[in-house]
Amino acid sequence: MVRVHTDRGREQVGNQDLAGVWEGGRVVDLGQYPVACSFVPVAGRVYLTGQVFPATIWPVRNVVPEWSGNSMRVSIASGKGGTGKTLIATSLALALGDRYHVQLLDCDVEEPNDHVFLRPEITGSETVTIPVPKVNEEKCSCCRKCADVCAYNAIAVMADHVLTFPQLCHGCGACSYLCPEKAITEEGREIGVVECGRSGAVGIVQGRLTVGEAMAPPIIRKVKEKADRDGIVLIDVPPGTSCPVVEAIRGSDFCLLVTEPTPFGLNDLALAVETVKELAIPCGVVLNRTGVGDNRVEDYCNEKSIPVLLTIPLDTEIARLYSRGITLVAGMPDWKSSFLRLFDRVTEIVDERDCSSKR
Ligand code: SF4
Ligand code: SF4
Repeated sequence: MVRVHTDRGREQVGNQDLAGVWEGGRVVDLGQYPVACSFVPVAGRVYLTGQVFPATIWPVRNVVPEWSGNSMRVSIASGKGGTGKTLIATSLALALGDRYHVQLLDCDVEEPNDHVFLRPEITGSETVTIPVPKVNEEKCSCCRKCADVCAYNAIAVMADHVLTFPQLCHGCGACSYLCPEKAITEEGREIGVVECGRSGAVGIVQGRLTVGEAMAPPIIRKVKEKADRDGIVLIDVPPGTSCPVVEAIRGSDFCLLVTEPTPFGLNDLALAVETVKELAIPCGVVLNRTGVGDNRVEDYCNEKSIPVLLTIPLDTEIARLYSRGITLVAGMPDWKSSFLRLFDRVTEIVDERDCSSKR
């Protein structure tokens, strides 16, 4: 059984992501939408077809195996960079590593830096490519169907030429699927790499987007494909609230939002809370560098019933460790119990939620 997501569905059905569960070639669940649709594999790609949409074909962007019930996936996010997200992700991984099977996925693919603190031994790497169109102009009849279907303006027909803009292409495959003359083939374009390794008891997977490339989501998906089906998977999410963040958080059991007690921290926290709410993922807050700023973040959390699960004071010793690439748990081992308590609280919240959704 796999879970699928489509880009086009999102545009067409009231700004909601269209996600469904697919098994053995047929839809078994398409959320709130009628399931008069089917998934059609063509040339190694999967397309969603059906009468419920204005057009009849939707290239499937993402096919993700259903997450195992034995695993717990916790994403660590922040509305903005520099709040201490890496500090939390790496220390939580180390604290849990003695007790559980733990894997840390660094999905901050534009600037992965968990490796700076955990210094993993890299044992494998894989190039990530996306399929981009290659046009055979001898076969092309200049019908413009490819340009019309492309939502990203990555292919254009000018007089009797077809121009492609590979850096804009999202690799959805719609143009080649729809070309009536079969004039479009696809070729892989390299956009980054995924590396796997280990740091002591912690398994590490990190994605790295090639400098100058803009398409982070395919790399994030590839990193998440390597997630273990059992144990605890921690996901270090890119900063912000844009597409790569949604891609990284999607499918998590819980999201830890790291912020600081300043007006900027509050503003970005509120945006991050809206994002996880849209994804129906429970969240809690880690408040870093307390002792500066004001109480407005705590007031906001109280008002929204969001638990503050851990507070870390502004401390020059913590800053010194961080600047030397030393995790909080390794440099100040007393913090380990705080991270274990944090995780126990996350587990309680997830369990309570599971129980209430089954009632
Ligand atoms: S859809 Fe095919 S035939 Fe039509 S303009 Fe594009 S490449 Fe040419
Ligand atoms: S050019 Fe790229 S993004 Fe546009 S329809 Fe073709 S594959 Fe999709």
